[in-house]
Amino acid sequence: MAKFKKNVEELKNREKLKDVRITGIGVSSGIAIGKIYYLDRTKVKYTPRFIRSETVENEIRRFKEAVKKSINQLSEVKVKIPPEKYNEFKHIIEAHLLITKGRMLNDDTIKTIKDEHINAEWALKMFQDKLNKSFDAIEDEYLSGRVSDIDYVVERIMRNLAGKDQESLAGIDEDVIIVAHDLSPADTAQIDRNIIKGFVTDVGGKTSHTAIMARSLEIPAVVGLENVSQNAKSGDCIIVSGSDGKVIINPTREVIKFYEEKLQQYLDKERNLLFLKELSPMTTDGHEIRLMANIEMPQELESIEEHGAQGIGLYRTEFLYLNRRKLPTEDEHFEVYKNVVEHIKPEITTIRTFDLGGDRFLSPMELANELNPAMGLRAIRFCLKEVGIFKDQLRAILRASNFGPVRVMFPMISGIEEIRQTKEIFEDAKVELRSRGVAFDEGIKIGMMMEVPSAMAIADFLAKEVDFFSIGTNDLIQYSLAIDRVNEHVNYLYEPLHPAVLRMIKGVVTSAHMEGLTIGMCGEMAGEPLYLPILVGMGLDELSMNALSILRVKKILRSFSYEECREITKQALLFPTAKEISQYVFEEMAKRFPEDFNDGPYQ
Ligand code: PEP
Ligand code: MG
Repeated sequence: MAKFKKNVEELKNREKLKDVRITGIGVSSGIAIGKIYYLDRTKVKYTPRFIRSETVENEIRRFKEAVKKSINQLSEVKVKIPPEKYNEFKHIIEAHLLITKGRMLNDDTIKTIKDEHINAEWALKMFQDKLNKSFDAIEDEYLSGRVSDIDYVVERIMRNLAGKDQESLAGIDEDVIIVAHDLSPADTAQIDRNIIKGFVTDVGGKTSHTAIMARSLEIPAVVGLENVSQNAKSGDCIIVSGSDGKVIINPTREVIKFYEEKLQQYLDKERNLLFLKELSPMTTDGHEIRLMANIEMPQELESIEEHGAQGIGLYRTEFLYLNRRKLPTEDEHFEVYKNVVEHIKPEITTIRTFDLGGDRFLSPMELANELNPAMGLRAIRFCLKEVGIFKDQLRAILRASNFGPVRVMFPMISGIEEIRQTKEIFEDAKVELRSRGVAFDEGIKIGMMMEVPSAMAIADFLAKEVDFFSIGTNDLIQYSLAIDRVNEHVNYLYEPLHPAVLRMIKGVVTSAHMEGLTIGMCGEMAGEPLYLPILVGMGLDELSMNALSILRVKKILRSFSYEECREITKQALLFPTAKEISQYVFEEMAKRFPEDFNDGPYQ
């Protein structure tokens, strides 16, 4: 922190102050002021060229130098990774080093330069294409996963041939704010919040994986800025205001001062909420709602405790599959889950089986290149196809249930056959464990995410199949309003208070309660204080959110009676547009919390 302050002081004294202001989508609250680290993730463009015979040797030398530089860079990154932290990442770097040094890549490219008289970039690209083609023909997950490693290595050499810089988040060793066109899940998984103080990206929406990661890391972030990466230069000063989506590049001294004060106020406000930790999450007339936490990684457990979560309502396990060369084994899954479960007990941990695909792709399994991944082979669909991989995880979850209360939840179920098939596989996993003599909770509860409109429409049937529902509004809104949740251009249509969404939620709560099911919500909508009275009024039993939102939501919850919430919901459902509903709820909130709701519902 001290170092971060020093950087800001340094930056204040810089001569060139431009005060460039851009507004995007604020996805993780708080304010960060610091130095830009521009992470260039754009692909290098090259021109294929024929070369004269006398320049062939020169071209080979240029290629060898680029390879040598790549080896040095990778070695440098490797030594900078703290071993205990980035163990898996280290393996990836080692693999990249092996490929870069490998005879196959070097001999083949040099031979092509010699034989075809073409430039190094073109020859390297030919090598890459040839290799990709031969990998395509092999139906082996592990081998096809190697394609991404080769692509990564080729891109690095290409960058060096073009004289461009190389970046890896793991190698950063001073406080910075990341500016990038986009961050991949592999990038965000490497973010160390002690060093990376915030980030801003050109693309993305409120519920894209980068946004969710920023909230779980509790660092300010703004996405969907369209072209911030073109305005940013490493070393320049930047202010990121995550609550209102404002970003200022090279601010004046006055602006920096203004935001430093704002940051202080923000921190004071957060601190003032801490007393709520010990108080019950209930309305003024005693109606209790369970406030739970969403987690992506076990590192968040501390924050869960700090914010008084009543268990984990959504544990997104897909992050276990990122930044690694091999699929996690049953034992690896088990160790991670056991640790979380033991930490959270006596409260419950809701483990969601992995939801890969969509905007969460991964390297080892390298999902099919799909035109529309959000609606493609992701989540449960992938699991039902890759039963072996799925069962490894299921057995591990079951084993973890022997160490504390666990529920299991399945993502993206769209109909009855899917949930029945899933349950059969789950039963098979139990049989396998019994035959191995391994103990697990025989009464383990199973639930499903309600995030596909078809499932919402047949909630009454589905309610007979499971023990609980949890509404995943991120996908539900994406699918029902037909807007890509990661596309910044249609972000204006992403309206959680759309009457269609509210009607669906109301319908599913009724169906769940008719069957005696618990129903919660774990999409980002659950953690937004503005929506709280409506969600309570709808009758939801549980709300699961990023840990930082829990106390903010609890504060609101404790100021309304259940009757008032029900009345607000009734009124809200009478409006035909999201804008009117939002305006109405905002006014109700502003009456009680004028200091928190003073900017209007649309900022
Ligand atoms: C959701 O879709 O609302 C959800 C919670 O799941 P994810 O964001 O992981 O898709
Ligand atoms: Mg989802």
